[in-house]
Amino acid sequence: MTRFGELSRRHFMTSVAAVAGSTLLPRALMAAPPQDPVVDTTQKAGKSVSYEKVPWKARPFPMKQVRLGEGPCKVAMEADRQYLHSLPPDRLLHTFRINAGIPSSAQPLGGWEAPDCELRGHYAGGHYLSASALMYASSGDDDLKNNANTVVAELGKCQAALKSGYLSAFPVEFFDRLRERQRVWAPFYTVHKIMAGLLDMYVYCGNEQALDMVQQMANWTAGYTGSLSYEHMQRVLGTEFGGMGETLSNLYAVTGKDYYLEVAQRFDKKQFFDPLAAHRDELKGLHVNTHIPQVIAAARYYELTGDRRYRDIAEYFWDEVVSERSYCTGGTSNGESWNTDPGKLSTELSTNTTECCCAYNMMKLTRHLFGWAPDARLMDYYERTLFNHRLGTINPEDGGMMYYLPLAAGYWKTFGKPFDALWCCTGTGVEEFSKFTDSIYSRNQHDVFVNLFIASEVRWPEKGLTIRQTTKFPEQESTSITVKAEKPAQAGINIRIPSWAVDGGTVELNGKALQAFSSPGSYLKITREWADGDKLEVKLPMRLHAEPLLGDPTQVAALYGPIVLAGRLGSQGLTEAMQSDPDHGPTQLSPPHAEAKGNGNIFAKSVAEIHAAAWLEPVKGQPLTFQTVGQKNATMLIPLNRIFGERYAVYWKTSTRSEDAEG
Ligand SMILES: [Zn+2]
Repeated sequence: MTRFGELSRRHFMTSVAAVAGSTLLPRALMAAPPQDPVVDTTQKAGKSVSYEKVPWKARPFPMKQVRLGEGPCKVAMEADRQYLHSLPPDRLLHTFRINAGIPSSAQPLGGWEAPDCELRGHYAGGHYLSASALMYASSGDDDLKNNANTVVAELGKCQAALKSGYLSAFPVEFFDRLRERQRVWAPFYTVHKIMAGLLDMYVYCGNEQALDMVQQMANWTAGYTGSLSYEHMQRVLGTEFGGMGETLSNLYAVTGKDYYLEVAQRFDKKQFFDPLAAHRDELKGLHVNTHIPQVIAAARYYELTGDRRYRDIAEYFWDEVVSERSYCTGGTSNGESWNTDPGKLSTELSTNTTECCCAYNMMKLTRHLFGWAPDARLMDYYERTLFNHRLGTINPEDGGMMYYLPLAAGYWKTFGKPFDALWCCTGTGVEEFSKFTDSIYSRNQHDVFVNLFIASEVRWPEKGLTIRQTTKFPEQESTSITVKAEKPAQAGINIRIPSWAVDGGTVELNGKALQAFSSPGSYLKITREWADGDKLEVKLPMRLHAEPLLGDPTQVAALYGPIVLAGRLGSQGLTEAMQSDPDHGPTQLSPPHAEAKGNGNIFAKSVAEIHAAAWLEPVKGQPLTFQTVGQKNATMLIPLNRIFGERYAVYWKTSTRSEDAEG
């Protein structure tokens, strides 16, 4: 038994006692909701209280201070907002009520929320609440907040009826099966989503009942896990458990009750953390989205305890996944797993590449690393993933989400039906598109960081400044930053100069070119006393380039700046039914894809002739549009995030080395 193990064992003992003796704080002492449990302090009786041991060096602005301007991010967010509005609380509550013995005649939802699905409740009482809370912070949508408050209040009745603090849409017996290591899908995974949803409703919407409810759930969790030996708990962690460690940590950060942190660390999976702490990549064979949330929990443990081992785990993991196990889109996983040794993706192009949840969780992890050390390269990754794997994976018509983003040639996008999919990726999707206002800007005491080029405005009340970004990026290779100042204010504006800006760029202040520029992959800092109407004009020329698939220089993707280009292969043989997955999870996704396989191979062959001598040229008058040259039939390429309803190719076979293929 390692020291680490003994420590955890001891924690088990002390925390059982702590939970037994705990009571809720009286309302008067209850903390006012912070902006964000990850980065903000809690207000208690008018005073700031923070339990963070490692404050972030750059903190994103609270989402309620950021608003999106017109552009593709706003379009995606609006589709998401309309979708969230379309979900009736009574249908969301149906299985929770049935489970609690409360009558319900509502029509059950389908897919992973169907009354016989073992994950039911993960979306209806979890992701839905998180997404609504985030959307409220991003847009101020009161109606949505009211719907979500109704769901919280009704879930509160279910929790009261169940008596023990337990709250779920399935019977508590699922946890008996988990403990006995009998077949069950993922009870803690589901409970985590509900706990996170409730906590988000407290943090972003000020719902104090939600905070009370999530504490009851945490206390129930403390009792369940506290009755197990360390070894037994480690076996329980063999079943996917989502971000239990993260949410319990956040609950500690919000309440200051340190036994929540102790319960959180019962979810440390030793077998997964130990190799990472020793900088060994033993990720091969692991289910990807089971594990990324555990690393986000490690990031929180570092922030809340200062223990460097957890930072090591998080940073080593991030490096391995991003540099050794990711595709050009920023996505990772194939068939939901890492199947190979590091840096070897040549056999890993399929219809089931890059589960959307993985992109969501990697971006979330990136946010922590950036907070510790605001390095532009972290935001390069964030941008890459946001623009290529998140934009374009929501159906603009009905807000349906994708599960996988296929990267093998000849496939197409499939979207879940609004009421009959409700997969994991539907859940992380509704959250993602609700928080597009997050991380565009960060700040420290003196400086603002312009991380992403998205039309938007941020209020910075501490400085009396408002910063507006006007841009059509990426169609436009520039952005304009206008300062509104109540009175002149000294501050630094840090502008990310992306790694892809290899041809340099220019910046003008109030129409005059500045001599200074920064190297790609860093921030350009401009410090001065900003006056009302000051304007920065930043030009960041993009370049067409080829990026090889990891471990296979003969297969390349074409990118323009950070934007992945996809060849348009037409809609031959594609029916509407093939583009929607009525009630599918990953395994059942295979029939339509299998059917396409033959075609996929044909298409792969047809693009195989593309090589260095015959590459791409821009199509005049159409931004971000290219066509192949020197081919019998030219293929058009547009951003992958704009492809809908047709087959596409992202990776191309080349006959020569990829470096020669640069445009
Ligand atoms: Zn998923």
